[in-house]
Amino acid sequence: MSPVRHALAQGDVLRFLDKAYGGQHKKVEANEHSFPCPECNKTDSCSINLKTGQWCCHKASCEGKGNLYSLKTKLGMAHRIAIKDGATAEEYAAERFAAAMSRRQKHRMEIWHNALMTDPRAAAALNYLKEDRKLNDTVLLANLIGWIPGPPPGKGGKRWKVPASGRGSQGMISIPYFQYGSNDPVNIKLRWVPPEPRIKKQDGTWRTLRYQRVTGGDSLLYTPQGIKPKLPLLLVGGEIDALSVLEVLAACGYDLTNKEDDYPFQVASVPNGEGAWDDIFGQQIKDVEDIIIALDNDPAGIKGSEKLANHIGKSRCKIAHWPTGYSDANAALIDGKLDLFDLTGMIEQGEPVAAKGILAAPGYAGRLKARLTSSTPKGLSTGIPDLDKLIGGCRAGETTVLTGHSGCGKTTLATQLTLYMALRNNVKAFVGAFEGGPMPFLEKVLRQCNGVDPFTLEMDQVDYTLDKVSNMYVLNHSGHVETEAFRETLTYCVERLGVRWVLLDHLHFMVPRHDPDVWARIGEMVMVIQEVISQSEAHCLLLAHPSKNTQASKNRDDYIVQMSDLKGHTSTFQDVPNVLSLYRKRSATRTEGDEADNTDIFEAAIISLKQRHESGREGRCELAFHKQSALYTNPNLKNSSLSFAP
Ligand SMILES: [Zn+2]
Repeated sequence: MSPVRHALAQGDVLRFLDKAYGGQHKKVEANEHSFPCPECNKTDSCSINLKTGQWCCHKASCEGKGNLYSLKTKLGMAHRIAIKDGATAEEYAAERFAAAMSRRQKHRMEIWHNALMTDPRAAAALNYLKEDRKLNDTVLLANLIGWIPGPPPGKGGKRWKVPASGRGSQGMISIPYFQYGSNDPVNIKLRWVPPEPRIKKQDGTWRTLRYQRVTGGDSLLYTPQGIKPKLPLLLVGGEIDALSVLEVLAACGYDLTNKEDDYPFQVASVPNGEGAWDDIFGQQIKDVEDIIIALDNDPAGIKGSEKLANHIGKSRCKIAHWPTGYSDANAALIDGKLDLFDLTGMIEQGEPVAAKGILAAPGYAGRLKARLTSSTPKGLSTGIPDLDKLIGGCRAGETTVLTGHSGCGKTTLATQLTLYMALRNNVKAFVGAFEGGPMPFLEKVLRQCNGVDPFTLEMDQVDYTLDKVSNMYVLNHSGHVETEAFRETLTYCVERLGVRWVLLDHLHFMVPRHDPDVWARIGEMVMVIQEVISQSEAHCLLLAHPSKNTQASKNRDDYIVQMSDLKGHTSTFQDVPNVLSLYRKRSATRTEGDEADNTDIFEAAIISLKQRHESGREGRCELAFHKQSALYTNPNLKNSSLSFAP
C-alpha cells in the first residue's frame, strides 16, 4: 500500500488534494488551498482549510460546501453514509445545532445568579463553589452561575420534593450555556450541591445523582467564551474544569464579560458524565484549527482523549496533560498550582496525535501508562453464553473470520450477533451486505427481532423495529467495492461515527469476481480491513466462503470447514486473529425424520479454529438453531427471542 493512499484515510488534507487534484490546487493562505469545485466544476472557485478539512465554493450561484469526508464522497473516493432521513452525520448535526441555537428559553439566569449570591438557602452552594472549588465572584458573575432549590419540573411535570435536610436538601447549581452572544441559554446544566441525592437501582446498588440537563436543552459543548476559528481551543472534561481555566484568565486581568478580549486561547468542555461523543459537538468546533485535548490525567482520561481526537479529526488535535500530581484543572487550581504559564505551556507542548514520525521515548509515557494500568480488554458479549465462554467475547481492534459451507446460516448468525451488539450492548454497528445489498439483510433483521415472517408484519411494526436499531448503519450498496474507497468509508465509520461493531457479509462479494487475479484482490481487501480495524475500538466480523473444490462440497453434511479451505491465498488469513467455522445440517440433505418431527429446533455448532488472544481458545460450542425466529441459542434453550415489547 502506498503511503500516499494510506494517508487519505488519516485525514491529511494536503495529501488528499495532491492525490485527487494533482497540480490543480493552489495555496491561497497559510492553511488554505483553492481547488476546482466538485459541484459547479469552476476552476479555483473552492477553498479548503488544510487543518479542519472544511471547504466551500465561492461562486455566488453554487452552494457547494462540506467537510473532507463529503468531498471524498462527491469524488467517488468514499461511500456516502446517511444517518437520518438521507442526511449525513454532519448534515443532521448541523440541523440539530441550528434548532438548538434558535431555541428561546425564558431568561431566568440573572434571577438564579442573584439567588446564589444572596439567598441564605444557597449558602452551601456558594461555599461549594468558592471554598471547595476555588471559583471566585468574577467567574460566577461572568458566566451567570446560579442556584435553585431543586430541579424544575421535567417532562412529566413532576416536581422534585426538596428534603428538609441531608442529601439533596442544598439545592442545585445552574450552569447556563450561552452560545455566540445569544442572550438566551441554549442549554442549562444543573449540578446537585453535595451531599448529592441517590437513587436505588434495580440491582439494589445506589446511583449518585450529580448532573442533569434542563428538559428541552440539547447536549452541547460548554463554550463560555464562544468559539473563534483561529484561537487555540483547550478542550477539558466538564464545566467546573472549564470555569477553573477561566478563573486563571480572570486572575491575569482578562475581562471575562468581553468575548472579544485578546485571549491567548479559548476553553470548552465536553459534557461531564454523559460519556459519548455527539456529532453536534463537531459542528460547534468544525472551524477551529488547533485543538488541545486535556481530559483527566488518569488512564481512562488519556484513552478518552485519544478517542476524542479520532472523532474531531486527528490532524488538528494535540493531547496535553495537567501539571504532574493533579488529575484535572480544578484539582490544580485548588492547590494554587494552575497559572497562565502552566496553561500556555500545556498548549505549546501538547503531543500531536497525527504525528507518524519519531518520538523520544518519554513522549510515549501517557499512552504506555494507560496501556499498562488498564485491565485486559473484555470482549463484547455475543449474547450466546457458551460462545462467550469459548472465545472470550469480541475484542476491540480484532477481526474474526466466520466461515462454513454455503447454506449453513453464516449470514443468519452474523445478523443475530449484529442485532445483539446494537440492541443489547448498545454499540453503533456498521453493516456491509455485499451479496444482496441492504434489503435481504433488513428482512432478516425484521424476522429476528419479531420472531415471525417479515412479510406478515404490520407497517408500524416495521417502523418500530427500524427505529429500535437506529444505531445500525447499513451500506446502501451490493456487489464489489473499490478497496481504497472502502478504506475511507470504514475509517470514517470507526473513527468519526464511533462504530464498534462491523459486519462484512461477505468477503468474496467485496472484490470483482471475474478479476483474473481474484485471490490477490481478496488478499488486499483483508489487509485493508485489518489495518483499519486493528487501529480502532471496533470488532469486525468478516464472513468468508470456503473454496469450491474442497471437502466441504464433497462430503456435505458431516464436514467442518477448515482454515485451509478458505477461498484465497494461504497468506491472506494468516494475520487474522480469530477464525470460526459454523456447522449446521443443510436443509437440502435434512432427513425426513427431521421434518416429520415437526421440530423447530436444529442442531448446530461453532468450531473455534483459531484464537490468538489468551482470553479465547480453540474448541467447539454446541448451539440450537430455531427455524421460526432464525436465531441461534445455547442448546438447552427451548425458546429464542430478541424481541422487545413495544
Ligand atoms: Zn461551485
